[in-house]
Amino acid sequence: MSKYIFVTGGVTSSLGKGIVGASLGKLLQARGLNVTIQKFDPYINIDPGTLNPYEHGECYVTDDGAETDLDLGHYERFLNISTSQANNVTTGRIYETVINKERAGDYLGKTVQVIPHITDEIKRRMRLLEEKNFDVIITELGGTVGDIESLPYLEALRQLRMELPSSDHVTVHLTLVPYLAAAKELKTKPTQHSVKELQEAGIQPDILVCRTEHELGDEIRAKLALFCNLKPENVIEAIDADTIYDVPLMMLKEKLDLRVMDKLKIPVLKEPDLRNWKIFLGHLKNPSEDVTIGLIGKYNELPDAYKSIYEAFVHGGAANECKVNVVAVHSEDIESDQDAKKKLKEMDGILVAPGFGERGVEGKILAIKYARENMVPFFGICLGMQCAVVEYSRNILKLSNAASTEMDKNTSDPVIDMMHEQKKIKNKGGTMRLGAYKCKILENSQAFEAYGKEQIMERHRHRYEFNNVYRERLEEAGMLASGINEEKNLVEIIELKNHPWFIGVQFHPELKSTVESPHPLFVDFIKHCMLYKNKQ
Ligand code: GLN
Repeated sequence: MSKYIFVTGGVTSSLGKGIVGASLGKLLQARGLNVTIQKFDPYINIDPGTLNPYEHGECYVTDDGAETDLDLGHYERFLNISTSQANNVTTGRIYETVINKERAGDYLGKTVQVIPHITDEIKRRMRLLEEKNFDVIITELGGTVGDIESLPYLEALRQLRMELPSSDHVTVHLTLVPYLAAAKELKTKPTQHSVKELQEAGIQPDILVCRTEHELGDEIRAKLALFCNLKPENVIEAIDADTIYDVPLMMLKEKLDLRVMDKLKIPVLKEPDLRNWKIFLGHLKNPSEDVTIGLIGKYNELPDAYKSIYEAFVHGGAANECKVNVVAVHSEDIESDQDAKKKLKEMDGILVAPGFGERGVEGKILAIKYARENMVPFFGICLGMQCAVVEYSRNILKLSNAASTEMDKNTSDPVIDMMHEQKKIKNKGGTMRLGAYKCKILENSQAFEAYGKEQIMERHRHRYEFNNVYRERLEEAGMLASGINEEKNLVEIIELKNHPWFIGVQFHPELKSTVESPHPLFVDFIKHCMLYKNKQ
């Protein structure tokens, strides 16, 4: 029987429910419990795969090919576990299931309603992971208490709390305690109101986690406890942190894990083993070197669009005891070789980001040309790899029209082209090449040196592929296809023979980088950026 931790949020969005949930999960895991974490999102999209990064940040992809909310990335990075389709559910998905059942006649002529049919489906999904025998399932409810679209989730939560034994569930409410500079005071009223809102829905939170810019102090804790109907020890302070990776230790200090275990009647058998986490933090905070890496993308005003890449740099940097300064360079600002030189001459490495559509692609290609010609370490991810193939075809093979058919349907040299099986697909949602695929790495390659093994599994999210018609010509000219999916005969990794570190990957390595297993390609890339910097 699994125990449930529900995490709700009040007052504002972006308080970091995902980070608090993941931190709590980390502490329980470090105490020897088998933990997973799931998120329910209140929007009507079936999944965030069709959402523009401006709307919702990066789309995170799981091994089983689910396109999910970026909080799942935090769960994986903190807990070092792999999540799945069942770990992220949207309102759209809930309604889709209910409506399909209605069309199939499963409701036997009944009127289909939010209560009980939608709430039953929410509860079923909340309990789906029970099958896998986790000790603890953390369920984050997206959105903010008081939103119209959150209501069915709160109602389902109310029902579930009635159905489960009291020691099998705990509700943690994350809220904001703002500081009014003019009054020099922390204000508790917004929290009181958001707890009242929860109580109106029939839910008394067991623990309050308060985001704040200043220490709460005993008086504020007591006041919050009194007004929100809680024991003072169940008011937890979550003060702003230097890095999200500090939050587990801050929550440990505040005893959030012990408060939760107390309510769940889980015996405290050992102190949490956070040795690896602390070693990582030590490296992160005491780097002995630093490098500057240009991230060439088109959503640079919005770091959430490249969340996993930024985090993979943090993990890979710590592994090298090196601080990585990531400089976002807008690909649309690079229109010529001179622009590329001007924008990139201070960089010790260049990463060209994933992406979709034509906007900004020519700037990416110019950045790659600069990295290739100047022997600057280059890392291309997905579209970044495809652009590297286009660049090489145009400038080395002299195929001046070379392009991806995503950007130029009628190009005479489609060096990147849509897979045959993709051509007949009309629907946009969930139809790309998604999830984990095997890849075999060639020995004596830069990629092999980074991974140190032949067989890898990496996650994909794209429609277009390296066109094998051009493989022989490209290889003769010095580009090496160093990673292959043998089942589908697809090129997954390319590199350059006459360059110290130039790797493009069709997959998304950033999605598999965690605190405890930094991704080998990021670790090796940063290492070569350090070498490059020291040589200059
Ligand atoms: N737009 C490209 C494709 O669909 C690359 C996608 C990506 O970078 N994730 O193949």
